[in-house]
Amino acid sequence: MPVDLTTLTSREACVAADRADPLAGYRDEFLLPEGVVYLDGNSLGALPRAAGERARTVLEEEWGRDLIGSWNKNHWFELPTRIGDKISELVGGGAGGCVATDTTSINVFKALGAALRIQQEDRPERRVVISERENFPTDLYMAEGLIEFFGGADGAGYELRLVDGEEELAAALGDDAAVVMLTHVNYRSGAMWHMDRVTRLAHEAGALMVWDLCHSAGAVPVDLTAADADFAVGCTYKYLNGGPGSPAFVWVSPRHLDRAVQPLSGWWGHRRPFDMAVGYEAGEGVSRFLVGTQPILSMATMEVGVDIALSVDPRLLREKSLALTSLFIRLVEERLADHPLTLITPRDEESRGSHVSFRHPEGFAVMKALIERGVIGDYREPEVLRFGFTPLYVGFADTWDAVETLRRVLDEGIWEAPEYRLRGAVT
Ligand SMILES: *Cc1c(COP(=O)(O)O)cnc(C)c1O
Repeated sequence: MPVDLTTLTSREACVAADRADPLAGYRDEFLLPEGVVYLDGNSLGALPRAAGERARTVLEEEWGRDLIGSWNKNHWFELPTRIGDKISELVGGGAGGCVATDTTSINVFKALGAALRIQQEDRPERRVVISERENFPTDLYMAEGLIEFFGGADGAGYELRLVDGEEELAAALGDDAAVVMLTHVNYRSGAMWHMDRVTRLAHEAGALMVWDLCHSAGAVPVDLTAADADFAVGCTYKYLNGGPGSPAFVWVSPRHLDRAVQPLSGWWGHRRPFDMAVGYEAGEGVSRFLVGTQPILSMATMEVGVDIALSVDPRLLREKSLALTSLFIRLVEERLADHPLTLITPRDEESRGSHVSFRHPEGFAVMKALIERGVIGDYREPEVLRFGFTPLYVGFADTWDAVETLRRVLDEGIWEAPEYRLRGAVT
């Protein structure tokens, strides 16, 4: 039975809720420093305990002992498809349509390029890519780059049309729309698109649908098959705990697999890479979405995080995620009502991912002061305090403690100290 939030009115009640939590055991699968409440797993997930051992095996036994033989003997060559299949299972993509590879930015380029190419053949008069104004910048930058490269609207090429919300999207979906590319859960606000409904809207208008699952995979239920999506991309270093810079993924619907081609025709996507043939021939199925040699160490340790995610009951994960985010919103609003904090995350649970964001006019300094006190969230322009709730290692007492620390930082004006105004390269 899901936890009854109305009973969580004290730290003791939160500790009791942690004891009754069916996912509580997952906390021990991760190494987190003592005394830290880690609310930034939506930016860089925590370190799975088993990743160290896996790294040691790949380094010493595979690379160190088997050297180049490892590509075959230790199945390095199959890692992108093997892990791709696992990720696909997590996001309801079925078998054979997903590879783990490259970065999300690069996969956006490949998926969008492939979708536009299909439309060029099927509906060549369509020249508009629709996305959201508040999308994560790299998704838009990559779309801009692709469009510019092919001549832009002036050269009778493509055009990027940006919208806010579903109503504007519906209005923008004219008979010139080629592709809709959206991020399922918004990185800043935590707002979540209704994947099934929006995909249907795009299809009814004759457009293809590309989903970015960076803030969804491992955090919220996703069923790409049920939604009838065309392409998807996402990263593994956030809720999948794959490690810093771990490879991303790209998924192609079975209906496009036979003919989807992507613009980065590297040798790993070739039909027979080791023929070293003159002339590119796209590989079978989704393997053609590979480009070059994979970062094996990073890929191997990432698989540990993906395996943990696969072992979790997705219904329990979502229940706990919503309980934590709802509790956090309620406690902040009840206990910090005197402070200028504005919730920018939807209250409606159906429209919320697994993080919560509040605006505060001094958000940057407030977050720095919080981090110094062991509550690690992050800051995003403009003025946004962002708190990610990874249900596998964040608990109810953690949530209570985070709000209490935030209360102290604000009540006592701790954030006003000059050292909290200095900015590093990464916020
Ligand atoms: C985190 C994130 C990315 C990151 O892209 P990289 O290429 O891995 O740096 C891209 N898009 C979205 C929506 C994200 O949330």
